[in-house]
Amino acid sequence: FKRLRENMKKTREALTAEVQATLFEGDLDEETWERLEEALIYADVGAATTAQVVEELEREAEDGNLVGGEALSNRLAELLAQLARTGDDKIDLRPDPTVILVVGVNGTGKTTTIGKLAWHLRNTLQLQVVVGAADTFRAAAVEQLERWGERAGVDVVKGPEGSDPGAVAFDAIARGRERGADVIIIDTAGRLHTQTNLMDELTKVRRVISKQMPDAPHETLMTVDATTGQNGVRQAKLFGEAVGVTGIILTKLDGTAKGGIALAIANELNIPVKLIGIGEQLEDLRPFDPDDFAKALLT
Ligand code: GDP
Repeated sequence: FKRLRENMKKTREALTAEVQATLFEGDLDEETWERLEEALIYADVGAATTAQVVEELEREAEDGNLVGGEALSNRLAELLAQLARTGDDKIDLRPDPTVILVVGVNGTGKTTTIGKLAWHLRNTLQLQVVVGAADTFRAAAVEQLERWGERAGVDVVKGPEGSDPGAVAFDAIARGRERGADVIIIDTAGRLHTQTNLMDELTKVRRVISKQMPDAPHETLMTVDATTGQNGVRQAKLFGEAVGVTGIILTKLDGTAKGGIALAIANELNIPVKLIGIGEQLEDLRPFDPDDFAKALLT
């Protein structure tokens, strides 16, 4: 929690100053709620989510249930956490092997995240991991993934340059099963300027995986760059509709004052945020806990 709080510093500082100024000082009036709304919108909590939360807080304050800045700000954290709770925020690791497809637009931190995830599964949970480099379009992407594989101590399966992404996914699963891997993580392409082609390619990779293993992929995780704000919400919506995203990995939360985006995605898209990236090191990947997250933002 300390690390999370520290890495969420930018968002926290932007938010708490306003929360302090509005909820702790002076009378509660129209201006209080307006300023609070502005602060939450600035932190990218999203217009709809912000309105819901501030209306509820105002109602409870007027009922006389909440007295004092401390009580108000604690309740604010609670309300934010409540909206971000989807009840489905754990990665399902029961199937053996578990196949995780990772999708997301280039630059959002997909490769880095796969490295961190592989490292966590191997080092913290002692699971055996195989990674499939199915972003076959960019040779540099495959090399970068191999470097992360080395750092994480896991095998990376690749094909010849420009080979069919579905074929690489197939090989990775076959190799993973041969070696008795617990988790197989498949990287995919993320060139958004050819949106239709990209969605077709991802759908095809999915189809190949399901044909080989009927209940797979067990998770389709999408990396969303927190610093891109509401644009990230739109990307998540697009991918969600096209390839059935089962969880979001929100990256680069450490570098932004707009960390509220986690709450907006969870509440407005109803896709659980399962993991968050809070730095560039192997260990900078965390499960998303709405309560801790809201607390890290406000206290
Ligand atoms: P990809 O194109 O989606 O595979 O993106 P990369 O994995 O290459 O990441 C793009 C950049 O974002 C790299 O410079 C990463 O170090 C950086 N990055 C990824 N995740 C995080 C994070 O959680 N925090 C920070 N600060 N940087 C990150």
